[in-house]
Formats: sequence, structure tokens, C-alpha cells
Amino acid sequence: FPLFKNALLYAKQSNPAPAIDDIRTGKTHSYADLIFAVAALRNKLLNGESDLNEKRVAILCPSGFAYVVSQWAVWAAGGIAVPLCTSHPLPEQVYSLEESKSALLLVHPVFQERQDHLVNETKIPTMVVTDDGLSHKNDALQAQALPTLFDMDINRRALIVFTSGTTGKPKGAVSTHDNIDAQTSVLVSEWKWTPHDRIYHGLPLHHVHGIINALLCPLYAGATVEMHEKFDATKTWQRWADTELKHLSPLTVFMAVPTVYSKLIASYKAMRNETDQQMYAKACQQFRFMVSGSASLPTPLRDAWYNISGHVLLERYGMTELGMALSQPYDDRMEGTVGFPLPGVHVRLMAESHEGSGVFDKDVTDTRDTSGQVQVKGRNVFKEYWQRPEATAKDFTDGWFVTGDFGMRIKEKGYYQILGRGSIDILKTGGEKVSALEIERELLSCDLGILDVAVVGVPDPEWGQRVAAVVVLETNKTLDLTTMRTALKSKLAVYKVPMLLKTVVELPKNAMGKVTKKDLVALFQ
Ligand code: ATP
Ligand code: MG
Repeated sequence: FPLFKNALLYAKQSNPAPAIDDIRTGKTHSYADLIFAVAALRNKLLNGESDLNEKRVAILCPSGFAYVVSQWAVWAAGGIAVPLCTSHPLPEQVYSLEESKSALLLVHPVFQERQDHLVNETKIPTMVVTDDGLSHKNDALQAQALPTLFDMDINRRALIVFTSGTTGKPKGAVSTHDNIDAQTSVLVSEWKWTPHDRIYHGLPLHHVHGIINALLCPLYAGATVEMHEKFDATKTWQRWADTELKHLSPLTVFMAVPTVYSKLIASYKAMRNETDQQMYAKACQQFRFMVSGSASLPTPLRDAWYNISGHVLLERYGMTELGMALSQPYDDRMEGTVGFPLPGVHVRLMAESHEGSGVFDKDVTDTRDTSGQVQVKGRNVFKEYWQRPEATAKDFTDGWFVTGDFGMRIKEKGYYQILGRGSIDILKTGGEKVSALEIERELLSCDLGILDVAVVGVPDPEWGQRVAAVVVLETNKTLDLTTMRTALKSKLAVYKVPMLLKTVVELPKNAMGKVTKKDLVALFQ
């Protein structure tokens, strides 16, 4: 199991980089600490048995060493890790426990109160994991456990991650160790991870973005993960500036969803003092690269971030079921695109031979500027939706996973562009197909004072769907339908220009920062 084997290798080196800087506790943990803590917790989990046999073990830990130790110990014991979202309300955590049929909950003392409620609701047995991974250590036991720690079947189920629930109830996607290895190793080489890297990790740890891209990749590469409990724009800027002010280790990698970049920009703009701004802008220079993903990155946001930080964000496209599938090349980041399939990931675009048939049987991958359903095949593709064989079967065709997203390859260099989800972003109005993401991009680049926007299709007897825009405006700005339509008409075909407009204070977003568009359609009904 390469992830563990690498970690052991780093642990044995004479001067390896630290594995984890746990910001909440202020403690630094070496790769050796990690290996020993994992071995110890594994023994406790096994409790004399030899294998957990794919038993589901849920994890409720703040971002930090205890989380990583828990996840790896479950794997080393032969279990399936089920990371819970720490910010979810009780019913959603209960849903995750019940859906996954978890047999045990590993819980950190900061969640004592929540633990009581969860036990009350589900009767799940619990085991406490402290900041060191375990409250007591037994070196003899640990040493004994080490050889078997790396001796596991790579095709076993390892992880259940729930999808973000943007289109419906979250689904538990099961990945094997082999899937995780494929998802991790490709990014390590494509994004050039080395032991000299240090990532500022501020992402949630119940989702592939935070787990695979931002945690397992650096650990696979022998780099350091600086784990911050949750994202806060002011604290983030402060930490970046502290590198120079307090002589801290420089950060080299940052990853976030578009909303986080918006918040960082807003916080930067709110700084009164120009010297401060200069200091923070300069702090961005310590980074080697910065990534955006999980939702489409609007060009104005990309440009605004470049103007402050000097970084051209690297955009990639992925899913819970796939890890990452497409990524802009490290050295060539064309705006509005997600680049190309990662090595080992096969992507095809499928269109309907007969419009409206619902059968996507025409391969248009090599036909430029033609949209098709994004389908993916490769070692990275997940195994199944947990105990939902029908849902799993429905999402595969000829061995290809049907993502539900639409995309196309643009003329220039054949870069892939994501047009959005078939069910909510691809609208049909007066017989014409429209990408909500395209309209959102245009609205944001018009000078209309729009801070955030979502375009949705409102069911309509005459049009099928009417294109509707929901906008968040800058303070003291107003916008009426006519002004918006006039501004857009020079940029978009007339059928794409929204017929309806609503202004809101904030767009509803889920824990992953994605707009829950289902809720917005209701505003017009
Ligand atoms: P659910 O499957 O429960 O409805 P979800 O699809 O949002 O939720 P995730 O697996 O977290 O759950 O998100 C994957 C989706 O995120 C993709 O299918 C795609 O729609 C969107 N996405 C990810 N990266 C990008 C990107 N760079 N540009 C546009 N969309 C993206
Ligand atoms: Mg999905």
C-alpha cells in the first residue's frame, strides 16, 4: 500500500520534513509519530481480532493529527473509514452513520456533546481519540504491528465519502485503496509535490478535495500538512504574513473552492491600510501554486485573485466518485477551462444521436465546440454507491461512469470546458439548450455590481424552462431586469438572456460552498 509504505520510508529517514503541523493543538508530528500512533490505534481497534473485515468506522475529529491517525488506523485494521462533516447539523451526521451502517464512531473530545446526541439517536458504540491519536502508548505492541500494517489487499474498500448533495440526497461513494492510490499518485506527479512542500490546509475533511488533494497527496510525497481547523479569511491572511513576521516555515501550496477566494478578496479589500495590503500581497509569493475546484471558477474572480496575489489559479474538475479527472496543465492554465484528462483517466463526451432521446450514444470527444455528457473510466473511478446496486448500475454505461455533467472541447488547443450539471445547469428554453454556467460567467463580467450569481431554470408551460438569474449585489447597488438584459444582449444569444431576476442577500450554499440551486427555483414559483 504505497501511501503507508512511503510514510514508513519517510519515518526512517534521518531528517524528514514533519508530517503534520496541528494548528489547533500547536503540536508538530513527524512521520514516525504518525506511524506509531496509527499502529497503536489499529491494535486498539482490532482488540485481539485480526481484521475489521470492511467494518465501517465513522470519524468525527477536528482537522489535525487525531483525524489522520484515525483514518489510517481504520485502514490498517481492514476497516472502511467514514469521515463525518464536523459542521453538519445532527440529523445529517445521523444520516451518514445510518446510511453507512457504521459499527463504531471514533470521536475527539471536542465533540463530546455531539457524541452524546449521536449515541442517543443511533446507539452507536464510540471510542475516544485524543490529540496524540491515543491516550496511552505501548511501544512493544506498536513494533509488533508494523509489518502487517503495510500488508493489505489494495482492492479492498477503504473509504465512504458522501457526495455534496447538490442534486439530491448525498450518496455514499465507496472507494477502494486502489482507487485512492490512483487518485493520489497522479496528482503528486502532475502537480509536482515534493518533500519540500508545505500546504495550508483549511478544507473540510469529509470530502475528496480536503482528503485526497490536500491531505493524502502531501503525505504520499513526504511533504508537510499544516492543518487549520476551519477557514477564516482574516486568520488565513495573518498566517501567510506571519511566515515573514514570525519566521515560520514558508507555505508552498494552497487549495480552495471559488467561494473561499471570494472571501479572501473581500477581506483583502476591506483592509484600510495600503501598507498592510502590500504586506499580504507579498506573502502570496511564498506559494508555489494555488488550486481552485469543486465548482466553476468565474473569470472575474480568477482575474481579481491574480491582481492581488500574482497567482494564476490552477483549475481542475473532480467528483467524490472520481477524485480528480481533468486538470489544467501545471504550466498552461487557460481561463474558463479545466484542461485535459489526467494521465490514466479516460474521458469521453457523449451526445444524443437523436435529440431528446435521452440516449447518449454519439461520441463527440473529438468534435470541437460540441457539448456532450462527460463520462469517465480509469483506476480512479469509485467502486459503488454504498449498498445501492441500482444507483450504481444506473450511473455506468459500458463500463464508463456517467458523471451527470456536460462539457465540450473548445477549438483552441482542445481544452475541456465544463458546462454544468445535466439536471440543474443545462437548461432548455424554447427548445434551445443553455448552460447556466456560461450565463453566470457573463453576468459576473458585466459591470453591473454583481458579487455572486446563480442561473436556474424555472419550469414554464410556454418555454419549458425560463432562464432566471439570482444575484447578490455590492452594497448600495440596485439592478433591474431591463438593465441586466440590455447589458447581456450584446454578449449572449437572446434566448440565453435571463427573463427573470431576483436579488438576494446571500446565495444558499452547502458545506462544500456549492450553491443549492433547488432552493432557488422555489423563489420564482
Ligand atoms: P451530489 O452528487 O450529491 O448532487 P455534488 O455532485 O455536488 O453533489 P461532489 O462530488 O462534491 O458532489 O461534486 C462534484 C461536482 O462538482 C461535479 O459533478 C461538478 O458538477 C462540480 N465541479 C467540480 N469541479 C468543477 C469545476 N472545476 N467546474 C465546474 N464544476 C465542477
Ligand atoms: Mg454528484
